[in-house]
Amino acid sequence: MSLQLQPDVSLKPFNTFGIDVRADWLVQASSQAQIVEALAVAQARQWPVLVIGGGSNLLLAGDIPGLVLRVATRGIRLLDDDGERVVVEAEAGEPWHGFVLHTLGLGLAGLENLSLIPGTVGAAPMQNIGAYGVEIQDLFAGLTALDRHSGETRQFSLQDCRFGYRDSVFKQEPGRWLILRVRFALQRTAHLRLDYGPVRQRLAELGIAEPTASDVSAAICSIRREKLPDPAELGNAGSFFKNPLVDAAQAEALRLDYPGLVAYPQADGRVKLAAGWLIEQAGWKGHRKGDAGVHRLQSLVLVNYGQASGAQIQQLAQAIQADILRRFGVQLEMEPNLYPQQ
Ligand code: FAD
Ligand code: NAP
Repeated sequence: MSLQLQPDVSLKPFNTFGIDVRADWLVQASSQAQIVEALAVAQARQWPVLVIGGGSNLLLAGDIPGLVLRVATRGIRLLDDDGERVVVEAEAGEPWHGFVLHTLGLGLAGLENLSLIPGTVGAAPMQNIGAYGVEIQDLFAGLTALDRHSGETRQFSLQDCRFGYRDSVFKQEPGRWLILRVRFALQRTAHLRLDYGPVRQRLAELGIAEPTASDVSAAICSIRREKLPDPAELGNAGSFFKNPLVDAAQAEALRLDYPGLVAYPQADGRVKLAAGWLIEQAGWKGHRKGDAGVHRLQSLVLVNYGQASGAQIQQLAQAIQADILRRFGVQLEMEPNLYPQQ
């Protein structure tokens, strides 16, 4: 199929914040050949290119110059099966949650704690998506990416990806790598992770004593549906700030002032603070200015009540950052990717 370049397109349907900015050009590429062709067209016309998937981790603070390339490739295949460990590969445009359900339906465990995360398979390695104690690096078996500088494809191993907390080489080298397909090593025997947050309790409430991986997925979906706003109803990009990592001495000093401090010691000696708790303590929960707000149930989620601009969401975020720094001496870092880059 030939490439369909659409001029002057509203990106409102293409970002879960629902921010109404425009792209000079939009193309939706459903094959690797179309991706390569779109990049070649952009290079010939000297357009900058923004690659997107589901638009669920973006803050669009203004119109996007050049070409927005939405990766819409589909396909899931089994590559290797030794009877216990199965390697599954998915094309970058596969919707993440559908992919998780597909693997569970095949009797393969591993991705259950990552259920109901919006977005695509191809964006998942960008920030090493994580939830309920599991990150994709725990199941990762390799990926194929296109080097936008040289035009060549390259295979990435786990080490090559330099995964960290909501971080990767792809995030550190913005605009260089276009992820084409990702591989995961899953198990026929489930090794369930139930000790994070309210997972075990929700399974008990559902009357499930010996859960399967699919039961865990269903429990996590039900928790998430209760706690998190559905972007189809209220624009948002999930957690707006990363949980800050501070040194143990700072965490201890904060605990003296705030005995209820929510803090999790990390293997490297640092302490992870719950950013949502800090924001709530500072009184921002449910705050609203115009159409930009802090969600009434989950302080880590900034929301668009309808007509907020990206700049208004950004101003709210900056006000929260300044307040948290002043009160707690903690610098909050934004999690969604900001465009146009500033
Ligand atoms: P986009 O928002 O389209 O893009 C994100 C970034 O990846 C951009 O920089 C973009 O340029 C780049 N990118 C996209 N596709 C590619 C590609 N193929 N190759 C190279 N670069 C690419 N995240 C978590 O980690 N855990 C959660 O539990 C979680 N829960 C969420 C809940 C809600 C309600 C929402 C709205 C978001 C949540 N997120 C969560 C954030 C988001 O869903 C993930 O970061 C997701 O992986 C983003 O996928 P996407 O396809 O929407 O990426
Ligand atoms: P929660 O269960 O209310 O917990 C609050 C915070 O405490 C979380 O951010 C989590 O950190 C941390 N935490 C909880 N239990 C922990 C434990 N046993 N050990 C270490 N840290 C612990 O969080 P929530 O907001 O409802 O989210 C549930 C999960 O989904 C979390 O893992 C969260 O990261 C993920 N999520 C992510 C996004 C996103 O956009 N990135 C959006 C929604 C939910 P971590 O965040 O580091 O896990």
